[in-house]
Amino acid sequence: MNKKNFFLTLLLTLITVLFILNLGFINDSLNFSGSNAYSIAKELSSAEYDGRKPGTTGNIKALRYTEGQISKNTGFTFYHQSFEALVPELTDTPVFELLKEDGSTVKIYYHRKDFKEYIDGYASGGEFVSNFIVDKENVESAIGKKFKDKIVVVNNNYLGYPFEDKIYINAGVKVLIFPVSSENVKKASGYVGESKEKYIKDGLKLIKIGVTESVYDFLIKLDKDNKNGSGYKLKISVPLIFKKVQTENLIAIKMSNSSSIKKDIESKYLTLTAHIDHLGKDPSGKFFPGALDNGSGVGFVLEMARVLSLKVLDANLVIILFNAEENGLVGSHFYSLYPLFPLDKTEIFNFDMIGASEKSVLSLLYYETNFSSKMTKVSKQIKDFFSQEGKYLSVDSMSEDTDHYFFNLCGTSAYSFNQFPETNYHTYNDTIENVSPVELESIGKTFEKYIVANYSTETKAASISLLNLLLIAGFVLLRLKQEISYGKKI
Ligand SMILES: [Zn+2]
Repeated sequence: MNKKNFFLTLLLTLITVLFILNLGFINDSLNFSGSNAYSIAKELSSAEYDGRKPGTTGNIKALRYTEGQISKNTGFTFYHQSFEALVPELTDTPVFELLKEDGSTVKIYYHRKDFKEYIDGYASGGEFVSNFIVDKENVESAIGKKFKDKIVVVNNNYLGYPFEDKIYINAGVKVLIFPVSSENVKKASGYVGESKEKYIKDGLKLIKIGVTESVYDFLIKLDKDNKNGSGYKLKISVPLIFKKVQTENLIAIKMSNSSSIKKDIESKYLTLTAHIDHLGKDPSGKFFPGALDNGSGVGFVLEMARVLSLKVLDANLVIILFNAEENGLVGSHFYSLYPLFPLDKTEIFNFDMIGASEKSVLSLLYYETNFSSKMTKVSKQIKDFFSQEGKYLSVDSMSEDTDHYFFNLCGTSAYSFNQFPETNYHTYNDTIENVSPVELESIGKTFEKYIVANYSTETKAASISLLNLLLIAGFVLLRLKQEISYGKKI
């Protein structure tokens, strides 16, 4: 090998090595671990946290645990934002029995298997034993009527609106029974609906019971078979109360250490959020684990906090674990009214049910009616980015369903990532088996890449400086080669 070839080979080798190093640098920057996120979801969905309902020790334990996890990373400061939430509570297991006229029991129905209580509108707790009638007329025709039997099985256009409840209450009805799917009977809800406090103040009360189609059909048939009513009674007890509880959002902040932003003036706030609360437990002691909803989102955000805290971002990093989401997006609504940082400099990415083991579409949710808005552009940008990474993202711009909603109403850029396999949603069966570490990692790495591409000029700068180094090395070698050639000539 002559000298010219030797130097050319050396130069090529150097370029190759630098190129590989550069590639390695980019790949190494994706650190999101699905199993880290998974183990947080597993912990939060364990019996230790009892379903994490606002106002319970399980919820407080979850807040402490997550704060401990975030503080393993350097540079975060914490803020506890407290607020009140209205939550429903069963003080005992509801009862629903079919009795003969003499009061002897014919059939016992089981809570969350055959029936469940409703909590919205004028729904309230109470006990009642009486004959029942089936109302086949339209709800409106109950206006001005007085029902002799205080238990009504609706077989009409009833949809569950408060104004319909009010019509029945005014007609003397104490209990309303309507059909729901057997899947629905298993699901708990924490959302008492809009204006619940006003309805409670009104003092009007109605026990609202959803029964499975088979229980419903049986009651309808009993009524049909007997001319003067069914000749049977129903015994109903729903020990339901509504409580105002004190709860809090957990906020962790890591200010940017990037030299490329002028502190405070140009600061942006990259805000990653997930709701930490879930539906608690039933009086039977059975609890709602909420592994996918939303242990998964909390695990995802906490792992992302770890990963991003190791990077230099051009934005301040804010992590918020919202509370009382299940009770009507209470925590995120509160933060949107009392933000710690200017909302016009805030961009929110919320994670609610992410990394599902059951195959389900990954959605990007937000609420925006203006199709030329910034949010429309950003959502398209995110969708395109994910699609380049081989991930299909379904965009829903009309979603009111989770914590992005109240921010969008203020014009703040906020998006939720969500998967929704309905199967075990809000049931005792939302256990850790519904969460997949592989799926978490795959979505996590893609999102991490998106953040690096959009919030970090220093990573780009680092890649560029490597490229510079490569070019300088090339020039030096060429120069060196030229000098040697000169030397040879002389
Ligand atoms: Zn939920």
